[in-house]
Amino acid sequence: MYDIIIVGAGPAGMTAALYAKRANKKVLIFESKTYGGQIVNTPVIENYPGIPDISGFDYATNLYNQIISLGCEIKFEPVIRIEDDLTVITPKNKYVAKSIIIATGAENRKLKLENEEKFIGKGISYCATCDGNFYKNKTVAVNGGGNTALEDAIYLSNIAKKVYLIHRRDEFRGENKYIEDVRNKNNIELILKSTITKIIGDNKLKSIEITSIDNKKQQIEVDGLFIAIGQTPNNEVFKNIIDVSKEGYIISEDGVHTTKKNIYVAGDTRIKDLRQLTTAVSDGAIAATTAIKEMED
Ligand code: NAP
Repeated sequence: MYDIIIVGAGPAGMTAALYAKRANKKVLIFESKTYGGQIVNTPVIENYPGIPDISGFDYATNLYNQIISLGCEIKFEPVIRIEDDLTVITPKNKYVAKSIIIATGAENRKLKLENEEKFIGKGISYCATCDGNFYKNKTVAVNGGGNTALEDAIYLSNIAKKVYLIHRRDEFRGENKYIEDVRNKNNIELILKSTITKIIGDNKLKSIEITSIDNKKQQIEVDGLFIAIGQTPNNEVFKNIIDVSKEGYIISEDGVHTTKKNIYVAGDTRIKDLRQLTTAVSDGAIAATTAIKEMED
């Protein structure tokens, strides 16, 4: 019997483990891939308070070593089901907990083009606020038509020399205010009814091929490509026990409790406005302290 089982060893899950171990609880974390979550793809984190400059990998490794040194147990097994009595099932075994924190994160939706994975950190990014500063006075493209893409284009227009905003339709999904702001920026050029069909470069991104819906192709040179075509959370396996939105995000009225007693949520996998490292670790701390308080009550 564990006090707390945490599903997901990203910043939110590992911070929850840190707080739970420091409160002397018996903690087990499950991770289906490697520790760190999405942050390991960020070459340099420059917006974490108090740490001016650290790679995502180093940050995740520091946090991992911190929780391991406190005696936290971690199993690299995917959770395939949680039973009503808080039994956590993996392909290898069954584990029982007094409370569970789900911190499974979300993955950025990929274009699924050749070179996309290869150029992450070498011209391709999924986070303008994390990586935008590397493109001072350069030319970048943003792909997508939701709030994230619009906000990214506006954010980048204040850093880069030129921003192309590429969207597959001629209407945006995002809010009118952002659309207006985008249209008012002199250095944002809209390329609508178009998709990116090729990512071109040798060791790093050099240009992209864009194909319009009437099949006209053009190649534009860019230093950076920010892909903002939405995210996909991984909560399919929890649908039997807690409520998730139609997009798959975990529903939580207060940002910590789920719809099932003693199951809590932390990080990008819940419905929230700002998905950042700072908000993920904050969620992790709140989830662990809430779980501990309610366990002791
Ligand atoms: P989103 O709203 O799901 O928008 C994704 C965009 O990417 C859509 O325009 C979609 O096109 C496009 N897209 C999807 N798959 C594509 C593909 N394979 N190729 C090309 N384009 C593709 O995602 P988001 O912008 O990340 O926002 C997620 C949620 O967070 C939303 O609810 C959003 O309102 C919220 N959010 C809020 C704020 C804020 O309030 N300040 C900021 C950021 C995000 P279609 O439109 O054609 O489907």
